[in-house]
Amino acid sequence: MILESGIPSGPLQEKWSRYKESMKLVSPANKRKHTVIVVGSGLAGASAAATLGELGYKVKCFCIQDSPRRAHSIAAQGGINANKNYPYDGDSTYRLFYDTIKGGDYRSREGNVYRLAELSGAIIDQCVAQGVPFAREYGGELGNRSFGGAQVSRTFYARGQTGQQLLLGAYGALNRQIEAGHVTMYSRREMLDLVVVDGKARGIISRNLVTGELEKFAGHAVLLCTGGYGRAFFLSTNAFNSNGTAAWRAHKRGALFANPCYVQIHPTCIPASGDYQSKLTLMSESLRNDGRVWVPREIEDAKAVQEGRKKAKDITPDRRWYYLEEKYPSFGNLVPRDVASRNAKLVCDQGLGVNPTGRAVYLDFEDAIKRDGKDGVADKYGNLFDMYAKITGENPYEMPMKIYPAIHYTMGGLWVDYNLMTTVPGLFALGEANFSDHGANRLGASALMQGLADGYFVAPHTVGNYLANSNFLAAELKTPITEEHPQFDKVMGEVQAEITATLEAGKNGTKSVIDIYRELGDAMYDYVGMERTEEGLKKVLTIFPKLMADLKENARVPQDTDFNKYLEMTARIKDFIELGELMARDALDRKESCGGHFRAESQTPEGEAKRDDENFTYAAAWEWKGEGTPHELHKEALVFENVKLTQRSYK
Ligand SMILES: Cc1cc2nc3c(=O)[nH]c(=O)nc-3n(C[C@H](O)[C@H](O)[C@H](O)COP(=O)(O)OP(=O)(O)OC[C@H]3O[C@@H](n4cnc5c(N)ncnc54)[C@H](O)[C@@H]3O)c2cc1C
Repeated sequence: MILESGIPSGPLQEKWSRYKESMKLVSPANKRKHTVIVVGSGLAGASAAATLGELGYKVKCFCIQDSPRRAHSIAAQGGINANKNYPYDGDSTYRLFYDTIKGGDYRSREGNVYRLAELSGAIIDQCVAQGVPFAREYGGELGNRSFGGAQVSRTFYARGQTGQQLLLGAYGALNRQIEAGHVTMYSRREMLDLVVVDGKARGIISRNLVTGELEKFAGHAVLLCTGGYGRAFFLSTNAFNSNGTAAWRAHKRGALFANPCYVQIHPTCIPASGDYQSKLTLMSESLRNDGRVWVPREIEDAKAVQEGRKKAKDITPDRRWYYLEEKYPSFGNLVPRDVASRNAKLVCDQGLGVNPTGRAVYLDFEDAIKRDGKDGVADKYGNLFDMYAKITGENPYEMPMKIYPAIHYTMGGLWVDYNLMTTVPGLFALGEANFSDHGANRLGASALMQGLADGYFVAPHTVGNYLANSNFLAAELKTPITEEHPQFDKVMGEVQAEITATLEAGKNGTKSVIDIYRELGDAMYDYVGMERTEEGLKKVLTIFPKLMADLKENARVPQDTDFNKYLEMTARIKDFIELGELMARDALDRKESCGGHFRAESQTPEGEAKRDDENFTYAAAWEWKGEGTPHELHKEALVFENVKLTQRSYK
């Protein structure tokens, strides 16, 4: 299989606009004759469904939650990047493009990333028009703050609720289309399979999560906007409902999965506090604007803190190690996430951690409070401070927060071309579900930017181009492809058979599926987490089959055929075990370190990630070859014509 990225030729700055002008259009009268299925109602899905509805297509939108506005995007805190250069600090489209390419450790496509940077300003305009209450300066101009991996302030924000406010904007636009009859919303539905007819994506099979009924939906194109797969690690900052099932099932129907090993560990999360936690809480990266990261310089101080004999305030400034500021003077506390996370692990590995488990570092606002006052700090971060205080019982205005890295985001995902179309014609992937723009590491505040660029500004053009070129209307004039097509019954039968088998096997099970899920998470953190080794990856590949056997033979599944959370979970965990195995295989195959993928065998003398551009400048796209047969690897060479590949340095 040859992977064609479809990046248009011509100068970087003109690729998207020229390409848009060359696309085929669907006439207004014909748009309503096309049905587009949008799975997911987060920022990517809601923005795509609303825009396609506004254009006149017939849209069917699906989500797991009881309301589209509860999609996981609502959790995003810190902000969204854009190239507006409002603070006049030197930003530009090129700079945002360059920072994103560099931040991703030169493992993403120039063409895609430039388009993202180019569209970023329009996203802000769109959201402001919708009424998103971005923070403003005293004079009324939209405010900006800094995020990691950039030396300019380009992050637009709405206190610590940026995702929520953006989603409310998209949800408003979506509701308008629902009211207008252009979009039909199907909540509490889980897509469990993709229906491919004559080689094209033509529909989905979903399960009504309340009644348990399986349903078939036909369309002319299917857009997966189903988010990332970080929950393969069990504990992560992602919502418990986030899962990889839709993408994984589409993968099994022919969509290649790209760079599965690229996952992001976020440096500023509240450390795990016990065995009964089901998720971890993120403290936004924006806090690193003003918070200073440190650990005690001396091991005896660290021990005293761990044992509760000393508090942060007892460590005098000369005995504090502001390790990021010291090691990376140019970027200081605002180094990218992979660098900040790895350094937190390194200092904790040296025994310098600051909580009883030794797995935490301080994020200290003492200087910011001295400078801006408590009110000044509260203005910017008040709700985050309140959240921290509620969860930990400690007052972050009086003592430093304790933070530790946690799984947060997945840069890998379904392989898509420049049109955001997967290797299954007519199946598109948007937002975190695709692999497109972040390479091996995503910079803060760029996921919201990508999800909204995909949904508001890219897919509405490229999906139209696909539909116009496919000529469905003429081809199906006599016999349109509907839910009555035999392929729908065939796929639905296969889904039903799997559900029946899970219920049957789980009848006499003795083990909680959550326990098996936790074991999967532990194995992922231990061997496919912040540091990976050949030995560890080979070991974990022997663990997955055992976990799968345990799930199939010993998991207890209640027998309800309607609402049944454990039935849902068992299927998702099964998919996560298979996906986890592919993540480990990909990580083993990629012998270099790059971005969030740190292979201990490939590091510079200073302990930084060491890329191997000669052998690994490609996107790894894996093809499913059937149960029990190894995946096949396809490589898409990454071509750099506008930036020079260098060893990433934030010093
Ligand atoms: C705590 C936290 C804070 C963050 N803060 C920021 C930030 O400040 N800035 C930033 O840029 N990024 C941030 N991110 C990342 C960002 O929020 C996500 O990458 C982004 O919101 C993902 O959007 P999405 O639309 O792709 O997917 P999601 O918002 O995850 O939406 C997925 C949708 O798909 C649906 N779905 C999933 N599976 C199925 C299925 N099988 N069938 C039917 N429906 C399905 C879900 O119901 C949901 O509607 C943060 C992430 C976290 C976890």
